[in-house]
Amino acid sequence: MNKVAVVTGGAKGIGAAVCRRLAADGFSVAVLYRTSQQEAEALARELSAVTDAICVPVDVTDAASVTAAFEQVTRELGPVYALVNNAGVAAQELLTDVTDGAWNTMIETDLGSVFRCCRAALSHMLHSHDGRIVNIASMWGEIGGSMETPYSAAKAGVIGLTKALAKEVGPSGITVNAVSPGVIRTDMLAAFSDETLAELAAETPLGRIGEPNDVAGAVSFLLSADAAFITGVDLSVSGGFVI
Ligand code: NDP
Repeated sequence: MNKVAVVTGGAKGIGAAVCRRLAADGFSVAVLYRTSQQEAEALARELSAVTDAICVPVDVTDAASVTAAFEQVTRELGPVYALVNNAGVAAQELLTDVTDGAWNTMIETDLGSVFRCCRAALSHMLHSHDGRIVNIASMWGEIGGSMETPYSAAKAGVIGLTKALAKEVGPSGITVNAVSPGVIRTDMLAAFSDETLAELAAETPLGRIGEPNDVAGAVSFLLSADAAFITGVDLSVSGGFVI
């Protein structure tokens, strides 16, 4: 039986590329979505040609919703072996303009989500003494992004959570790693002008914006047998933006 992978925010962007890659790697895949129901259903249908695949609604800011989603995955596909915490939101704003509500939404979506989904996935992983977690952080969590202070703080938190949890669950045979993308071509960049994107590409040593598949390859590696002795790392996939 295939091992089961859960990908939050799996319906589009980086998450969809990860789902496709993990299906090709031989995982059964649960595509978790919040608003992108049609895309999630279409992707699950597409993946069903090569593996068992389902789509499951979740709001990662809501503990009860996360619990229900993991129960559905376990019921329909089996126990979760791999969790990719990919769901996230970004916002560009001066810190002095950030409201309490916007701050809380950012922290709960980008950091609290990782806590809640890890907690839900670990109940089985700890029992089976096996499992893999990959958290999608960001290069702004590594080096800080101007006008992205809440986002940078949340993603730095994801890296800290990754390192601490790796130590906590390593003795139970579970690896926990982070992948920190640089500038990747998805809907998250919709707020940036073509000029800004060209500047960001020029600032990137490899001279281009990244593609979702660039990130999916790193996630695939960290979930593979070749990465069995790697835990607690933050793998930068930024084209050299962060070295
Ligand atoms: P997208 O905007 O394409 O995808 C974001 C995903 O997050 C969507 O699938 C969305 O689901 C999901 N999501 C957001 N809020 C919630 C919620 N409350 N509950 C459940 N799902 C939610 O962006 P990307 O693919 O670019 O982003 C994926 C990850 O990569 C994010 O964590 C992001 O921070 C990170 N990243 C992206 C970079 C980039 O340049 N693109 C750079 C560095 C990091 P739905 O559509 O179903 O609502």
